[in-house]
Amino acid sequence: MSANIALVLADFSASPFDGAPRDEEGRFTNPSGELVHGTLEVRLPFMLRRMGTYFRSGTDAPERVANDGVFLRENAQQGVPTVTWIGHATLLVQMGGVSFLTDPTWSNRPSPVPLLGPKRFVKPGMAIADLPPIDFVVISHNHYDHLDLPTLKELAKRDPTTKFYVPLGNGDLLRKADITGVHELDWGQTVNFGSIVIHCLPSRHWSKRSINDDNKSLWSSWAITGEEKRFYFSGDTGYFSGFEDIGNKLGPFDLVAVPIGAYEPVAMMRESHMNPEEAIAAALDLQAKKAIAIHYGTFDLSDEPLAEPPKRFLEAAKSSALGGSAAWIVKVGETRTF
Ligand code: ZN
Ligand code: ZN
Repeated sequence: MSANIALVLADFSASPFDGAPRDEEGRFTNPSGELVHGTLEVRLPFMLRRMGTYFRSGTDAPERVANDGVFLRENAQQGVPTVTWIGHATLLVQMGGVSFLTDPTWSNRPSPVPLLGPKRFVKPGMAIADLPPIDFVVISHNHYDHLDLPTLKELAKRDPTTKFYVPLGNGDLLRKADITGVHELDWGQTVNFGSIVIHCLPSRHWSKRSINDDNKSLWSSWAITGEEKRFYFSGDTGYFSGFEDIGNKLGPFDLVAVPIGAYEPVAMMRESHMNPEEAIAAALDLQAKKAIAIHYGTFDLSDEPLAEPPKRFLEAAKSSALGGSAAWIVKVGETRTF
């Protein structure tokens, strides 16, 4: 057997669709290995700048329209495919007669120390009380701007039948908060919800919630596929070859949600977050018919100017095979059909 064939076989046996890889200590890793989060020379000044952003202006943050949820509650039965941007990575999606949320976060400052957490520039687009009944929630990873326990507790209390799908190792966090209906999945695993299939899929990211729990729980992206529509939510992720694999395996997608913010400082962010041009490249790899931009302009998380991500996203789309009209920059609270 030549070295080349051995290498191909090694790659094949390590397919992320057969489960996420782990290191010798049992912590999850990315197929490409440990990610770089910048040297201390980059990270320390960044942390200091973050502390200094208490008074950063929210000018250029996304526009907001208040959504009263009347149409969406009626539509829960009618089943017109819709997407509503609640803010940040939180989307309400309706398709195939189900309503679900991605990374639901209604908190003002997602952080272990809420007083010091990143500021929310734009209020959520709708109140939790105005949501349609939520069949399920998918969560991408445990960073505070994605896994928001106060919101999850409220959703679970509002409807005890709501299901919560999380990547491996995240279940206990929810169960300890008295949330029931929690299901953990590994990359490549699926679960059926009526005629809908929920796929837990790779992403290129990491996890951390406290001092010494780095990568003890898994991160993931999610595909939700139905008889009529196919939707993909990438969570937080760097640009990686997994998009092409997912596109080939499960595409084309009618709509993909891609993060376009938190890309500066580049030395710290680039392996675990995408910039707007990479988000368009990801949408193309995923064989997306439309791409909605998320994860920008809502929380004060990173160094890039607030107006920059949506502008660069639309410019990149126009000069790509996706085209400008298939790249959606929406208002917080806005609903679109897809
Ligand atoms: Zn993250
Ligand atoms: Zn994030």
